Amino acid sequence: MEKGVTLDRALDLSLHSPLSKRTETLLLEAGRGRILAKSLTSKVDDPRFDNSAMDGFAVMASDCVNSGAELTIVGTSQTGGQLPPRIISGEACRIMTGAPLPEGADAIAMVEETEVDGDKVTINGPARTGYIRKRAENLSIGQEALPAGTHLSSASIALAGTMGHGEVEVIKKPRIAILSTGDELVQPGTELEPGQIYESNSHALASLVESMGCEAVRHESANDSMDELRTTLDSLSDCDAILTSGGVSMGEWDLVRKIMEEEGNISFWRMKLRPGGPPLFGTWKGTPLFGLPGNPVSSLVVFHVLVAPWISQSLGYHSEMGPRLSQRVSVKLEEDISGAPGKLCLRRIRIRSENGQLLATTHTHQGSGNMHSMVAHNGLTLLPPDTDGKAGEVIDAIWII
Ligand code: AMP
Ligand code: MG
Repeated sequence: MEKGVTLDRALDLSLHSPLSKRTETLLLEAGRGRILAKSLTSKVDDPRFDNSAMDGFAVMASDCVNSGAELTIVGTSQTGGQLPPRIISGEACRIMTGAPLPEGADAIAMVEETEVDGDKVTINGPARTGYIRKRAENLSIGQEALPAGTHLSSASIALAGTMGHGEVEVIKKPRIAILSTGDELVQPGTELEPGQIYESNSHALASLVESMGCEAVRHESANDSMDELRTTLDSLSDCDAILTSGGVSMGEWDLVRKIMEEEGNISFWRMKLRPGGPPLFGTWKGTPLFGLPGNPVSSLVVFHVLVAPWISQSLGYHSEMGPRLSQRVSVKLEEDISGAPGKLCLRRIRIRSENGQLLATTHTHQGSGNMHSMVAHNGLTLLPPDTDGKAGEVIDAIWII
């Protein structure tokens, strides 16, 4: 077991036991919100043929150099209809938006700039080549437009359809168990006895797990008892991973650490992070397990900086197009923010954009039990160990999306 590891080392070690990646094939309509397991290439050119971007007349640009040209209408090009007739100089073909361009035509006159009289049309405005959408100008057959690891948004689902895919192979949602531990915890909505507090971590962790494309299996919180922990962990070991919260510090009642030491397998314990120092990672009967801190802010912060990247890298999410919770940015501090001796310091900050620059301020106290600080702020500093941030300085930060 390694003790007191950096964030990078923690991620390295946890990736020795990655989430296992399985895939399934879904109808396109069921794919929204899922993550592509394999890159998708286009089965067609997009557009499939040169077509008009406007309702109007397909013409030869050379016939329409001067306003007022009179041309003979020789046919109509409709979407989904017969291929239109070829045109020659002096002729025009009625055309709908998206309909194929007749051979011979190289420009479109907008319907608003034409006047029709019987089979003649007068072209009053310019005829524009730019109103033609060229075959394959968006995508050509075989082109990869949706890389593996893409989070299927409504636009990417539509693009998969445009490319001719009626089914998509996606990553099967891993099942991630969430278990809070602590004798003091009761579920919100029930009466509190003296000494009890409301349990909140499992709610945050479940929603973070879902946002990362996995299925959260929330379990009732367990009491601080070795027997209860053992039975509960055993019952969860058919999940693909387990996240516990609480019970990983140095105290006598920190039984997640104790049971993992005695009966599980610990890869590392404690990280050089503030907040979020106590986590451990290991396996319980072969199932990867993160022992997250009990303090509510710490458990969330560790999820953001360690568990989310572990999920993402285990499953091969695309770094920009895959699911993610945050984005690395540079922010200018509007006040002094103190760092932490020997630890990467993740102070909560509120990031806002002003005059093209991201500015960061703090609004509440930074206690690791203060969940309000995670709501009143939308970012975390990445102050390196032993480094304070000074007002006016630009530092690295995480912007929580
Ligand atoms: P622990 O790491 O178990 O010592 O817990 C640290 C602090 O976080 C204690 O004040 C706990 O009461 C609190 N805590 C632990 N788990 C939770 C939870 N699931 N929800 C809310 N607070 C918690
Ligand atoms: Mg506890």
